[in-house]
Amino acid sequence: MKKVLVLEDEDNIRSFVVINLRRAGYDTLEASSGEEALEVVKRNPDIRVALLDVMLPGMDGFEVCRRLRADNGKIGIIMLTARTQEMDKVTGLMTGADDYVTKPFSPAELTARVDALYRRTGGEPPLDDGIIRQDPFQLNTRNRTLEKNGQRIKLTQVEYTVMKLLMDNPGKALSRDEILETVWGSDYFGDVKIVDVNIRRLRLKVEDDPTNPTYITTVWGYGYKWGF
Ligand code: CA
Repeated sequence: MKKVLVLEDEDNIRSFVVINLRRAGYDTLEASSGEEALEVVKRNPDIRVALLDVMLPGMDGFEVCRRLRADNGKIGIIMLTARTQEMDKVTGLMTGADDYVTKPFSPAELTARVDALYRRTGGEPPLDDGIIRQDPFQLNTRNRTLEKNGQRIKLTQVEYTVMKLLMDNPGKALSRDEILETVWGSDYFGDVKIVDVNIRRLRLKVEDDPTNPTYITTVWGYGYKWGF
């Protein structure tokens, strides 16, 4: 199993990270305090990558990093830092972290960092050829492109991320809030209408008849669904 530890005291951020890592094929273990994180690693010596939030009640992320590093030279460590904590980067790297990700981060950025570190610590990231095939669409998650019937459809980065979320969840009703949180991040404070605007634009690009959408369907009073 491709085990990743997620240490974060804020439940919504932790579940956001966990959902996205699971979607990318990782087996996640969770901790909400530094003490708990050290216990989880002790019980699961095969954890290969640890994501450590810096700001925690009790033992902070740097201390956890220091202790993990003292016990295990091989584990890959990524610090989750806030934008306002410029020094975190330096301190984190000095305490033995391999990388850091600044909040708010996108699912794509997070997964890319974990994949890269996973590879550097000697493993292959879980994944196949990175192509999601759902006739007549092909979404290439490596170069972030979409094809319909073999024809490239130009997408913005945000549209791509919405498409990926939809195609990762075929037939599942996704609430507008869930789409907002996954695509824009839980720290996004804008209006949820941004979801509708992007869906409308996507429909113009992917639907046979945008006025009568059959791929991206509306779930009234809730959100949207990919297909059927
Ligand atoms: Ca925190």
